[in-house]
Amino acid sequence: MPPIQPGCLWVVATPIGHREDFSARAIATLREVAVIAAEDTRHSKPLLLHHNIATPLLALHEHNEREVVDAIVRRLQGGESVALISDAGTPLISDPGFRLVRAARAAGVRCAPVPGACAAIAALSVAGLPSDRFVFEGFLPPKSAARRTRLQELAAEPRTLIFYESSHRVAESLADMLAVFGDEREGVLARELTKMFETVIDQPLARLAERVASDPDQQRGECVILVAGRGEEADAKLVEGRRIFAILREELPPAKAAKLAAAISGAARKALYES
Ligand code: SAM
Repeated sequence: MPPIQPGCLWVVATPIGHREDFSARAIATLREVAVIAAEDTRHSKPLLLHHNIATPLLALHEHNEREVVDAIVRRLQGGESVALISDAGTPLISDPGFRLVRAARAAGVRCAPVPGACAAIAALSVAGLPSDRFVFEGFLPPKSAARRTRLQELAAEPRTLIFYESSHRVAESLADMLAVFGDEREGVLARELTKMFETVIDQPLARLAERVASDPDQQRGECVILVAGRGEEADAKLVEGRRIFAILREELPPAKAAKLAAAISGAARKALYES
């Protein structure tokens, strides 16, 4: 492997679970740079020690990114090589680093990726959902009202949707997805990828939400939720639901008409109510 260039910011992916999912080039780069900017130095140390990487670390996280970016860019401009890592996976993907990369590029510093694990891509690669076009949405808002609003904005999206979610909100989020996208939309829960309890479940959202809500084991660990984009089948249900809703609205209050039209057609109630 050629020696690494000085004055370059190396953006290095680390494993998302299995410690050996770490490329030879990533390990060599981390051994050779002058300093590694890490999201949580205490978290990264065991992994780095496991791979005999003794390079000094400095902390770069969302609370100090603004302050330390200038100092790191000055070191890069002075010819030092710096690597950026996050706690797991690819830096900047729902992780810190955006400000540093932006400032480095603006200062004319070369930024080079050392690619590797990313939970969203790992999940998509085994979900069995269309993977030719997809939307990465990262984390949804933690509160249900804001979460439903965000999901509503995505209800007509035809591309596969990918979300990160914390284990203690996975049941609530699936319940909101069910309410907004409807019973039949295909969902996939990809949990603990590359780890001992790796689980990938694909089911229509109604069954997936019910299964996760009733099984505390499915609410543990790290997870990615994927939802099929709105397809022709969902379109057909919505068209039918809207037709029934229009008839029922002549006789019933809108909320009641939407509830019945959703139950008859299989379309999402909210989608009808707002149509
Ligand atoms: N930068 C990381 C990446 O490239 O995937 C993501 C960091 S983000 C702070 C952490 C989230 O990624 C978790 O809450 C979870 O949604 C997802 N994640 C990370 N590791 C995972 C794993 N082994 N299995 C499933 N999801 C994982």
